[in-house]
Amino acid sequence: MQMIFQDPFSSLNPRMTVGDIVGEPLLIHNLAKGSEKKDRIEVMLKKVGLKPEHSMRYPHAFSGGQRQRIGIARALILHPDFIVADEAVSALDVSVQAQVINLLQDLQAEMGLTILFIAHNLGVVRHCCTRIAVMYAGKMVELAPTDQLFEDPKHPYTRALLSAVPDPDPDIAMNYGISGEVADVGNLPKGCSFAPRCPDCMDMCRNEQPEFCKTNDRFVSCIKAL
Ligand code: SF4
Repeated sequence: MQMIFQDPFSSLNPRMTVGDIVGEPLLIHNLAKGSEKKDRIEVMLKKVGLKPEHSMRYPHAFSGGQRQRIGIARALILHPDFIVADEAVSALDVSVQAQVINLLQDLQAEMGLTILFIAHNLGVVRHCCTRIAVMYAGKMVELAPTDQLFEDPKHPYTRALLSAVPDPDPDIAMNYGISGEVADVGNLPKGCSFAPRCPDCMDMCRNEQPEFCKTNDRFVSCIKAL
């Protein structure tokens, strides 16, 4: 398992060359040295759309998108089965986001990767994920195949999230469908965490914690939805 971090600036050591950054996992795990290490670094840099000669440069010489490619190369050089991409594109410009997402999808197909893609942007999530887990107050409240989640959201928080996506049509009024403050995770209510904000809240929701239950091929944590 490896990780791609959100911030392509602070996640790269400014005192190390790109070659040292990408090759460090090989060094730590004692997997390659000398020319073999150099070759593997060059292959990986090419795979993420960079050039072998970039290995001699320092991170400050690269744009945000290129830096994120360096982070991806570092994550992939050990050939992991599983990658956690933690807000991996949210710090990038929109056009660069598309390039990095396409790169991740190509690498996923080529290397047979499973990627846990953490993001706030529902459009990005819809584009690149096969299953989506929606979290509220630190817990999963819904887990469903992408199409089902967007076409038929079961949890009231998922519905509120989807209704908050801006529509470019100026004649369509925004309907956020949710009010109140985000729950304090250090002081959660006794029953359902979403109860103080839920338009469907019933008396029992304030006293009972809903289970995260399976219905057909999806999971939901809502007494009313089950
Ligand atoms: S359990 Fe009740 S309060 Fe919680 S999301 Fe479902 S309907 Fe709303």
